[in-house]
Amino acid sequence: MSEPTLYSALLIDGQLVAGEGLAEAIINPACGEVLTAIAEASLEQVEAAVQAAYRAFAGWSRTTPAQRATVLLAIADAIEQNAEQLARLESLNCGKPLHLARQDDIPATADVFRFFAGAVRCQQGQLAGEYVPGHTSMVRRDPVGVVASIAPWNYPLMMAAWKIAPALAAGNTLIFKPSEHTPLSILALAPALAQILPPGVLNIVCGGGEGVGSQLVGHPRVRMVSLTGDIVTGQKILQSAARTLKRTHLELGGKAPVIVCNDADLDAVVQGIRTHGYYNAGQDCTAACRIYAQAGIHDRLVAELGDAVASLRFARKKDADNEIGPLISARQRDRVASFVERALGQPHIERVTGAAVHSGAGFYYQPTLLAGCKQGDEIVQREVFGPVVTVTRFDQLSQAVDWANDSEYGLASSVWTQNLDKAMQVAARLQYGCTWINTHFMLASEMPHGGLKRSGYGKDLSSDSLQDYSVVRHIMARHGLQLD
Ligand code: NAD
Repeated sequence: MSEPTLYSALLIDGQLVAGEGLAEAIINPACGEVLTAIAEASLEQVEAAVQAAYRAFAGWSRTTPAQRATVLLAIADAIEQNAEQLARLESLNCGKPLHLARQDDIPATADVFRFFAGAVRCQQGQLAGEYVPGHTSMVRRDPVGVVASIAPWNYPLMMAAWKIAPALAAGNTLIFKPSEHTPLSILALAPALAQILPPGVLNIVCGGGEGVGSQLVGHPRVRMVSLTGDIVTGQKILQSAARTLKRTHLELGGKAPVIVCNDADLDAVVQGIRTHGYYNAGQDCTAACRIYAQAGIHDRLVAELGDAVASLRFARKKDADNEIGPLISARQRDRVASFVERALGQPHIERVTGAAVHSGAGFYYQPTLLAGCKQGDEIVQREVFGPVVTVTRFDQLSQAVDWANDSEYGLASSVWTQNLDKAMQVAARLQYGCTWINTHFMLASEMPHGGLKRSGYGKDLSSDSLQDYSVVRHIMARHGLQLD
């Protein structure tokens, strides 16, 4: 198979231009080799991108939903036309198995653009009416303005879609910054985006968080900042955004609790956690990583899940044989390793499987299962963002719900039981943006995704996201004419 073309041009004001800032090495985490170097946007180029978005806003914000839908559908088509190229770049840049990038990332990315193309044409809201005698009120939903969207490295193209599609659909113009580690797939799409969109409506600039990212966040012409990233990054962005009172949309980390009751279907639980605890090497803010297992099922679960996790295939030569990839960087792998090392320094924590850096090339870490973990342990409380799952035993369900909620995070959770009454009661009490019942990690473009507590606020996907990227305005008309 020939290597895919590596694109490096940024998209500024409708033009594909080389970055004029420092060059950042882009590494294939599956082997550690440098793929290419991408030059970041210079200060002047970031300024030009913001000014282009600002100029383009007047025209784009006045297009009709149908016109914007046509553009979004064309982007979805372009993604499908370039699917193989995009999947291969996603795989090269993140190390994820190519067959999974083809099967999961690319179709999901195209679907997000299609969903927002439809959703923007059928938004709902309050009724116009005479709420003050002699005056008719109506509500408009208008775009916010220039949006800066900042993405992480775990699903580069899909995160780009989650940010770009609703913002454009709602009539905003934007500057998108991919993670400095993973710009390749969005840069490969840039030539098609330049053809489809009017100049300035969508600009793509590469660069690090402290440089290009913070310049965007601090820019007075940017009216909204959307981030998917770390809690600390979210805090920095909030502090900076406060100076110009920008709207913010923050999707931060997660530490998803998985409550397994005695009456759960054990095979389904084992299969579910094997898949959804380790997918993308656990670099997923919704990963099923914090299991609470009831005493009656605990020992069987630990034994069967241990075997299942040990059978996960990775770092094999043939792509189709792999179920998970490496961590994104040596730094991230070492961070995961140090979490596990500290956990195993605690006498009550037992290594069921894994717990070591893979000895071959690439930034792989063995899929790891730790049992005997207690609620106060660091490994139970903090996000590892790697292929590491913990098990904590509980007796009473109310205890498990309390422990699940005893977390700084509030993004995703699941409960596993064959008793629907029990499942619904637990779901109602969990303080998480999403609770799955007898499954985990399933997303639908129609349904909102986003957190509570320090997992952030604002919704991705769904028509709720369109609301986040727009402002409500009240228009009131006084009636001069009296009919009677
Ligand atoms: P990160 O916070 O280090 O980086 C995310 C993005 O923010 C990058 O583009 C980075 O360049 C930029 N950035 C960093 N500092 C910045 C600053 N001061 N100003 C402006 N931009 C800045 O996160 P990451 O390491 O790329 O991704 C992993 C994190 O993202 C994890 O904590 C994970 O949980 C979180 N995440 C959350 C979700 C969700 O939906 N809630 C989804 C995926 C990832």
